[in-house]
Amino acid sequence: MFEQYKLPYESHALEPVIDALTVETHHGKHHAAYTATLNTLAEKAGAADKDIVDLLANLDDIADETLRVGIRNNGGGFYNHNLYFSTLSPNGGGEPKGGLKAKIDETFGSFDAFKEQISALALGQFGSGWAWLSTDQEGNLYLSKSANQDNPISLKTGHTPIFTIDVWEHAYYLKYKNLRAKYVEELFQVVDWDAVEKKYQEAKA
Ligand code: MN
Repeated sequence: MFEQYKLPYESHALEPVIDALTVETHHGKHHAAYTATLNTLAEKAGAADKDIVDLLANLDDIADETLRVGIRNNGGGFYNHNLYFSTLSPNGGGEPKGGLKAKIDETFGSFDAFKEQISALALGQFGSGWAWLSTDQEGNLYLSKSANQDNPISLKTGHTPIFTIDVWEHAYYLKYKNLRAKYVEELFQVVDWDAVEKKYQEAKA
């Protein structure tokens, strides 16, 4: 049984960056639906007790094509949104501290340069998808983007995602309409870098 991440903040808590209706629809409808569908499909595939990372990293083990595609899409939707919502906070914003900050500076030159590069990926994703900051086990950082609900785990790049930007229109359209760039820019005001740092330290441990 896969459990949807429960928001530790109220649906209006991310305003004015993310409006309450968007959070309610995005988490309460879209994310909830991905989770429910994943549970149904995983049950059918005999994979209900698997770890989600293990499941997404080994999609080829699912022989039935309909189940495999369904789990790729809905398992991705489940995992990706768990990451997205758990790295946002009404107390977010600012810049990372500690080990993650040092590695970001080393890898990208500065936090601003990192922000510029991941934002460019988010804006460059044609249609629905995601931009990613991931780490390998040695703590090296990588940026990437993906379409639909694919992620660095299902794409088998061997990296653990620690931060992501959802650029599906359902993530921003109610408030920002067609202005994806504005949404991406504003989103950084609610990013919980302490949560991202924690995921970074866990992933490379
Ligand atoms: Mn979404």
